[in-house]
Amino acid sequence: MNTIWADMRDGIDDGLMEEAGRILQSGGLVAFPTETVYGLGANALDPEASAKIYSAKGRPSDNPLIVHIHRLDSLDPIVRTVPRKALVLAHAFWPGPLTMILDRSSLVPSSVTGGLDTVAVRMPDHPVALSLIQAGGGYIAAPSANTSGRPSPTTAQHVRDDLNGRIEMIIDGGSVGIGVESTIIDLTETLPMILRPGFISIDMLRSVIGEVKMDPGLHSEDPAFRPKAPGMKYRHYAPRAELTIVEGSEEHVRAAIDQLARSAISRGLTCGIIAADEDASAYHAGIVRSAGSRAKEITISQHLFGILREFDDLGVDVIYSESFDTPQIGAAIMNRLIKAAGHHILSV
Ligand code: AMP
Ligand code: MG
Repeated sequence: MNTIWADMRDGIDDGLMEEAGRILQSGGLVAFPTETVYGLGANALDPEASAKIYSAKGRPSDNPLIVHIHRLDSLDPIVRTVPRKALVLAHAFWPGPLTMILDRSSLVPSSVTGGLDTVAVRMPDHPVALSLIQAGGGYIAAPSANTSGRPSPTTAQHVRDDLNGRIEMIIDGGSVGIGVESTIIDLTETLPMILRPGFISIDMLRSVIGEVKMDPGLHSEDPAFRPKAPGMKYRHYAPRAELTIVEGSEEHVRAAIDQLARSAISRGLTCGIIAADEDASAYHAGIVRSAGSRAKEITISQHLFGILREFDDLGVDVIYSESFDTPQIGAAIMNRLIKAAGHHILSV
């Protein structure tokens, strides 16, 4: 298949957007930018179209998709009821990086929800995404536009690297703003529960709906605590290299990573280091990549997945990363990093 490359970095191209809408309405796949990561879209109300997402990504069929809408009126038909807290959250954070789990109506095919009776819904905060959802008929199922198991794409080129020739169109909207996937909140139980941390932090959620808990299965290695979002059980975001997170005081971390890097290199391994801007100049061995500044935490989430991909391309064997437990997005950054590291954390 020839994948059409639609350049919309400088704004929406009406002709190409019409074509993207036709592709979606006739059951094809279009990758598109959102404010979090690039998504791989299909018509959510067409079970055959959504099935193509799973095969293009190599995604396990029990891992449900998020349904993207472009206006609040679209919510009612796809859910059984709209709880009051969902409305409050929608008014506070939509369009934006918040996905809500609600009971689904019969309009949503069960192939989209991985057989679950609930549906994940989000309204993204990106003009290209909103326009595409409208052009595609109002309901676009879209997971991240990566091959399953690879870090999520934060540029259109990342999408091309994974999916070229397997999907009808890639819309280039430039680099994304946030760089980690949306916060997922489950509103189907008495107490709202975060199934995946993202840019919208637990404190931001609590400030509008009161008590919110974190899924106890999220960071547990104990099989008795399975995460509730099916996708969170996979070793996602996995780079090819073995990744270790080093945590402790700044000084100890710098010394430990420097020594680990030198030791790896002396064993003939190619070594990558992920550091904050503030520390990058302290490392003199290995391939050092500065994720961003601790003082401007969004710069770290923006660059993290791209660095993991770059290290793959460079054939890096081992990666040592600093820990980035920053105030707002730190929980999301560390959730992705810990999964990428397969829980390999070294405290110094
Ligand atoms: P992605 O869009 O690739 O970030 O994947 C969507 C995420 O949402 C995955 O982790 C899914 O498991 C999760 N998800 C989607 N629908 C549901 C649902 N109905 N209940 C729980 N988690 C869901
Ligand atoms: Mg994904």
